[in-house]
Amino acid sequence: MNVFERLDALPALSPEERQLLDSVKALTRDEITPRAAEYDRTAEFPWDNIRAINALGLNAMFVPEAYGGAGLSYAAYLACVREISAACASTGIIWATNFHATKPLIDFGTEEQKQRLLPRVAEGAIGALCITEPEAGSDATHMTTRFTQDGGDIVITGGKTFISNGDVADLYLVFGKWSELGDGRNAISALYIEKATPGLSVLRTEDKMGHRAASTAAIAFDGCRVQRANLLGMPGEGLKLLLAALNKSRPSVAAHALGIARAAFDDAVAYVNERRQSGRRIVEFQGVQFLIADLAAELALCEAWLWHVARLIDLGESDIGIEASVLKLRASDLAMRIATEAVQLHGGYGYIKEYRVERLLRDAKITQIWEGTNQIHRQLIGRSFIARG
Ligand SMILES: Cc1cc2nc3c(=O)[nH]c(=O)nc-3n(C[C@H](O)[C@H](O)[C@H](O)COP(=O)(O)OP(=O)(O)OC[C@H]3O[C@@H](n4cnc5c(N)ncnc54)[C@H](O)[C@@H]3O)c2cc1C
Repeated sequence: MNVFERLDALPALSPEERQLLDSVKALTRDEITPRAAEYDRTAEFPWDNIRAINALGLNAMFVPEAYGGAGLSYAAYLACVREISAACASTGIIWATNFHATKPLIDFGTEEQKQRLLPRVAEGAIGALCITEPEAGSDATHMTTRFTQDGGDIVITGGKTFISNGDVADLYLVFGKWSELGDGRNAISALYIEKATPGLSVLRTEDKMGHRAASTAAIAFDGCRVQRANLLGMPGEGLKLLLAALNKSRPSVAAHALGIARAAFDDAVAYVNERRQSGRRIVEFQGVQFLIADLAAELALCEAWLWHVARLIDLGESDIGIEASVLKLRASDLAMRIATEAVQLHGGYGYIKEYRVERLLRDAKITQIWEGTNQIHRQLIGRSFIARG
């Protein structure tokens, strides 16, 4: 057994979870991987991949049984994210975003909200998590989207930018400020908006470097009206919900980045074993071996940390912000590094679209930017060591 096979066996998945993961592997091998280059070329939303994912009932794995789901472990979810993202990073992030938008509802929603919304998610609804605004990126507390109570309704005005699934979502988790609470961070609140709510519109979708098949939209709320029952938590509780949501979504984007990293590593190893120069396979050159060794060592340690964080979450630990930041930071930097070195090891061929590493390099870059840029994660980790005197 090689080091990575042993690592893949590390998370304590149940027989049912292993079986589901095997089905996901078969799906990625037979359908998602073969379609990935074409989706990257056309930048069309990969509806047939999403239909195939829903045919397997994958959304159900993170929805509790009481609401039509299967309630599988977080480790099993991360293993599936990594697998799908290795095959097609666009499809991986589309599916993972469903989880990112839904997990706060599972953790903080009222019974009525869960009964009403979660069965639809379990059946395959697409989610969107709406935090970023044109003037509020790394510092989300400067968001200006407003929630104003009007009788039994809440009226939403403002807009969000760079929203994954923003043009195709069935359910939007939106963060904004509660008008009566003013402009500070204590006014931040959260609510759900459903597809086709009047006043919700898509302003544009972005033409991106990578993740070309995953849509990224600017959306506007123009007097959008939802019932008060769609408010998540209490007015002013949004920042707490936001931080809790990020603690669960950051390991998820790290698993996605590690999918890209593993794909680039596998391609690099396959290529150096096949390509010959000066009468030898290039893997036989010590300079190449040292590089592969460094990448393998980093990847092994980062994957081990992924399963460590997954285990903490499955054990119910909620204070995992720093562990999640360490994971997101290292996984995304590693995805970028391995994808860059994989292109290098392919020589000129790595720069040609026919080879997958060209796409993996473009897909890797955003992982260092979204869900908190890596500068912000360094800041969060560093700050946590300031002694409180
Ligand atoms: C493809 C894509 C998909 C996305 N999906 C979503 C989504 O689904 N939902 C959502 O809400 N958002 C989403 N985002 C937004 C993403 O999370 C933000 O782009 C990211 O948080 C950075 O914000 P910004 O782009 O405004 O950059 P800025 O915050 O303006 O940062 C610019 C630069 O300044 C640096 N910087 C900023 N503050 C500091 C600091 N305090 N110390 C050191 N350096 C700093 C940053 O690290 C960065 O290098 C997505 C973005 C993209 C491109």
